[in-house]
Amino acid sequence: TVNFLYLADDGSMASSVSTSGWAWKWPGRAGDSPVIGAGNYCDSRYGAAACTGFGELSIRASTARMVVRYLADGMSPEDAGITAIRDLEDLVDSSNNFIMHIVILAADGRHAAVSTKAETMYAIRETDSDGARLVPRTYVPVKG
Ligand code: ASP
Repeated sequence: TVNFLYLADDGSMASSVSTSGWAWKWPGRAGDSPVIGAGNYCDSRYGAAACTGFGELSIRASTARMVVRYLADGMSPEDAGITAIRDLEDLVDSSNNFIMHIVILAADGRHAAVSTKAETMYAIRETDSDGARLVPRTYVPVKG
């Protein structure tokens, strides 16, 4: 699954998800990617979030929607993502390790990503008068 979050110069925002169609794609299973509020959610007033990982969990918890709610409540992008992972922990047996990665972009441009796996990478596309470049960043690991 690939997540994209956008913040335009005029302050408008968007989120999108492209799922691979490979892992966990049993016949009839859609996963969280096409479910707005689960796999991705955006509200230009507050920010945007998108998930990869166990879609059943992000559907149950409305994970992307909750992250944007936490941003609206004043949390930092990192705290909003960590809180959303904690929400998922409450849904699984403590012995059941789960996978979830969440990218978060606040309306003011702050961003973070949290993951139940260590050393996961994401990239920020920055543009200025010198042009555009992709800047690699590391997800904040959160034990899932
Ligand atoms: N979240 C996707 C799903 O549950 C899979 C993925 O992120 O790789 O279908």
